[in-house]
Amino acid sequence: MPEFITNLTVKQIKDLVVSLNEPAYRAKQLLGWVYRKLAVSWDEMTDLPLSFRQKIADQANLHILTPIHEVKAKDGTVKILFGLPDGKTVETALMKFKAVDGKHRYTVCVSTQVGCPIGCPFCATGQQGFERNLTPGEIIDQVLYFARRLQDNSKGREGEKIDNIVFMGMGEPLANYDALWQAIEMLNSKDGFGLSARSMTISTSGLVPGIKRLGGEKLQVGLAISLHATDDKLRNQLVPVNKKYPLAELVPACREYFAQTGRRVSFEYALFDGVNDSFSQAQALADLLQGLNCHVNLISANSTANQTLQPSPGDRVLSFQQALQTRGITCTLRQSRGQDIDAGCGQLRSRFLTQKSR
Ligand code: SF4
Repeated sequence: MPEFITNLTVKQIKDLVVSLNEPAYRAKQLLGWVYRKLAVSWDEMTDLPLSFRQKIADQANLHILTPIHEVKAKDGTVKILFGLPDGKTVETALMKFKAVDGKHRYTVCVSTQVGCPIGCPFCATGQQGFERNLTPGEIIDQVLYFARRLQDNSKGREGEKIDNIVFMGMGEPLANYDALWQAIEMLNSKDGFGLSARSMTISTSGLVPGIKRLGGEKLQVGLAISLHATDDKLRNQLVPVNKKYPLAELVPACREYFAQTGRRVSFEYALFDGVNDSFSQAQALADLLQGLNCHVNLISANSTANQTLQPSPGDRVLSFQQALQTRGITCTLRQSRGQDIDAGCGQLRSRFLTQKSR
């Protein structure tokens, strides 16, 4: 079966081109069509000889993802459920923000696995179980799909484009490290998509070996930790991988990551009513992160997959934020995007799977 072109590295594409008895510079042209001009078919690549296009079409497919279902929120967030070649599904969200200059910025929230092995009780993906890792191409194609849509939408106007990528969709990115990193390298490469590494963020539930490995990488990709609790007892429940990598290992790994890379670590803290949102828990969070160059994103949670975990009321969210700021912890309050469209991780896919089983 032909391979998908986005599953190949720059070197593999060069090798493929040479193996087809074509000059090596054709690889660069081909990459330009796939990653810069965002071609939807081989036929579009009109500056490539027809004979080459036919040969490459015999060896590789251009598209992996099939959009199955789309929802759009009032805040401009678009979420798509994609079908994969083996019939499985993943979801990807495009979020639209208005910047201070009045222009729009776009962030795509990318999935790295079908389902997730971590099983956080508030997360719909966590309740679906784990099915498989995504390939590099399946990760990359989520970005290319939205980049193409923005390009099509903005024809004739100033180009709208993907400004940031967050690996924060379905799955634990660091549990699929090799495919994730191959995708990041291609998305960053000047021969590929060409997005700066600093515009990409990996969000992890706290896989310590992956954080250590990331600290040794050359590309300056951002790191975000889904923390959500300040003691092991609660974190074992909210983020079950904590049983394997408790806070006493996770927080030092983050300190080491900063020492190695000089990059500030972000901590995600979703506030749940009466669970992790008290004044004393805010103090415990400040104690835990004391002296670490970091930023806390407080998340006013979406409606969750678990009845007992409900969003904190607004005044408590503000008090929590204030308590952290008083202790010198920089933090911002992030509203969940796309509240009206099942934008919480895995919610759209859950609804689709339920309908399918009926
Ligand atoms: S929150 Fe993230 S790590 Fe936890 S189950 Fe959901 S996708 Fe997995």
